[in-house]
Amino acid sequence: MEMEENHLSKITVINNPQSLNQKIAAIRNAGPSKLQVIADFDGTLTRYWINGQRGQSSHGLLQQGNPEYDAKRQALYEYYHPLEFSPTIPLEEKTKLMEEWWGETHDLLIEGGLTYDAIKNSVANSSIAFRDGVVELFEFLEERDVPVLIFSAGLADIIEEVLRQKVHRSFKNIKIVSNRMVFDDCGRLVSFKGKLIHVLNKNEHALDMAAPLHDQMGDIDKPVTDNTSVKQRTNVLLLGDHIGDLGMSDGLNYENRISVGFLNDNIEKNLESHRNAFDMVYLNDAPMTGVLKLATQLCSSVD
Ligand SMILES: [Mg+2]
Repeated sequence: MEMEENHLSKITVINNPQSLNQKIAAIRNAGPSKLQVIADFDGTLTRYWINGQRGQSSHGLLQQGNPEYDAKRQALYEYYHPLEFSPTIPLEEKTKLMEEWWGETHDLLIEGGLTYDAIKNSVANSSIAFRDGVVELFEFLEERDVPVLIFSAGLADIIEEVLRQKVHRSFKNIKIVSNRMVFDDCGRLVSFKGKLIHVLNKNEHALDMAAPLHDQMGDIDKPVTDNTSVKQRTNVLLLGDHIGDLGMSDGLNYENRISVGFLNDNIEKNLESHRNAFDMVYLNDAPMTGVLKLATQLCSSVD
């Protein structure tokens, strides 16, 4: 890791290089067949800033083609978003509030007649972009049959459409665990599938939630990463941008985990807690190329 530290010294912070190197060695020894990647989507795989402006989130980019309902969802955002970050609301109460927010938002999407075409158009008109190197990372992992689970409290259908439009291809090793929509024959949203995944529960038993979902990415007809095989991959490379993202590996009895945190905002205030929580912290909206180098190292054969 020495070379990388020097090379990226302005954007990488490693709290305990010795511990990181031990984890790298252990994962490398076990080989790629034991490795999986678990990643958050917004602000982790995607850039936080785009041309000096905040990039959009998978939820935030959605225009349902019905201004009245877009305004209603925005009003919910303005009411609940500050509550999400309130330091005084107890967790149990906050969880109820987040369930309310997500539930009401989903109801509005159905009531307002969201169509799949509106999702396509929203993504086409959005300012959302993957970090440089994300596609190369996915390709690298696909070639080595390393599964990537993307956990998000957003909307799976939007994340998949972002992948289609921004990457122009699908990956057989990627599985998205997020809120999934059900459309009727006319492409109109009628319901949501499965358990509601909001910002405070996305990590609870996330791997179990992954089990019943069938991958519906474009031309993929069967998921490669079934839950059993994922549970047997006991080495984890975890990517997130909030400390809460560390919980994404909670359903897993992992042996080694390297956690990489992207610190996008309030850097001075949050650096200390991020560097204590993650094995590596990337600052300043860093590209994914450092993680690609790390993955290359983790997958290289031991001689
Ligand atoms: Mg995020």
